[in-house]
Amino acid sequence: MKHNYQPIIGLEIHVELATQSKMFCQCSADYFGKEPNTHVCPVCLGMPGALPVPNKKAIEWVIKIGQALNCTINKESKFDRKHYFYPDLSKGYQISQYDEPFAEHGFLKILDKNKNKKKFGIRRVHMEEDTGKLIHENGQSLINFNRSGVPLVEIVTEPDFTNSDDVKQFLEELQTIIRYLGVSDADMEKGSMRLEPNISVQKSESLKSKVQMSKGEHELPPYKVEVKNINSFNFVKKAIEYEVKRHIQILEKGEYPKQETRGYNEAKGITVAQRSKEEAHDYRYFPEPDIPPIVHTDKELAEIKATIPELPSEKLQKYVSTFHLRYEDAFILTRNKTTSEFYEKIINTIKNNPSLLKIKPKNLEQTVAHFIINKKISSDISVDEFIKKAVQKMQPKQTDTKALAAAVQKVIQAHSQVVEQIKGGKENAIMFLVGQVMKEMRGQADANVVKEALKKNIL
Ligand code: ZN
Ligand code: MN
Repeated sequence: MKHNYQPIIGLEIHVELATQSKMFCQCSADYFGKEPNTHVCPVCLGMPGALPVPNKKAIEWVIKIGQALNCTINKESKFDRKHYFYPDLSKGYQISQYDEPFAEHGFLKILDKNKNKKKFGIRRVHMEEDTGKLIHENGQSLINFNRSGVPLVEIVTEPDFTNSDDVKQFLEELQTIIRYLGVSDADMEKGSMRLEPNISVQKSESLKSKVQMSKGEHELPPYKVEVKNINSFNFVKKAIEYEVKRHIQILEKGEYPKQETRGYNEAKGITVAQRSKEEAHDYRYFPEPDIPPIVHTDKELAEIKATIPELPSEKLQKYVSTFHLRYEDAFILTRNKTTSEFYEKIINTIKNNPSLLKIKPKNLEQTVAHFIINKKISSDISVDEFIKKAVQKMQPKQTDTKALAAAVQKVIQAHSQVVEQIKGGKENAIMFLVGQVMKEMRGQADANVVKEALKKNIL
């Protein structure tokens, strides 16, 4: 290779909201697995003259996502029409947002593989509507409009990523946040979270000159390749790695890769050209005339913000610094909101009523975490049930009396001198024998029971 190369990666993430109804009509948004074309009406079929009415809940939820991603929320926002032709878009335009998205200029911090803190910019979070779905079978193309008009949130990051590992980590954190917010199942197999990385590669000489430039003047490569609609974190990682290699090969020849949209072929692990990439002006954006601008007061925005629960990164921080859990354990417990709530409920229940446990563990938070993580006690049971089982687990071990009697005899015979000392009044020496018996029993005995058995036999 003649040069050093630096990948520059940005992300576009689409998330379908789990609202009851669609974005601009009253049809049920719960379309997955339903009979084709049964969740439709004149609005979401794009009939001329049908009027859209925005879904209030969906707008609250997109704002909530924006707030969770540290964005500035625009108190005044509007919808725009984005024009393009495709059979799954019967109106000939998608209602989306252009220059006044609900949220912009945010960021998300993650810990990378080596636990370095990294911050990635969120350019915008906007609201739009999903399209119908084409099904190609037996040489025919069929259209299912059940998905048409389902509320869709688009999250666009800054091109702040330089490697596929950080991208994967970021996406996993984003998915966890969306699920904590309770606004979508973010299930990639069902298509409710879809991923589109855009990738370019820069020779590092030009990077040096970038450092010398004043802040804000980012010199990006003169091209960008977007890989569309990927439905797994691993495929995103592979698609990025494939593209970076492909771009470097072209750059090595002194050429630039074509600006285009590509698709990822899962079976072959390669990307394939789909179409040359459109520019924004190709879409002929203009304000949606049927929906007035959306205005929110500070009070309304504060009310939405108040519905955001403690987020996974905050919980993780709390578990490590206040509960003194290992980072790895805290990470596992915080990946799922239900698990972390269950965990905290147990801790709180015990703290409010310490007599529930007969033995006080050295570190309650660690002990309970251990029971959950190592599946010693299932987390599918009630809090009370869990505590009952934990009490059993922490109970002194049952002692096999037959084995104990044999071990006591063996130890007494082997250490007759110590036995004499004890008989002579040096009773503390018995602890040495207790240790020996415990060793014989491989720890499967209660120390107090062992001590009593020794006393009985010696004194
Ligand atoms: Zn409809
Ligand atoms: Mn979009």
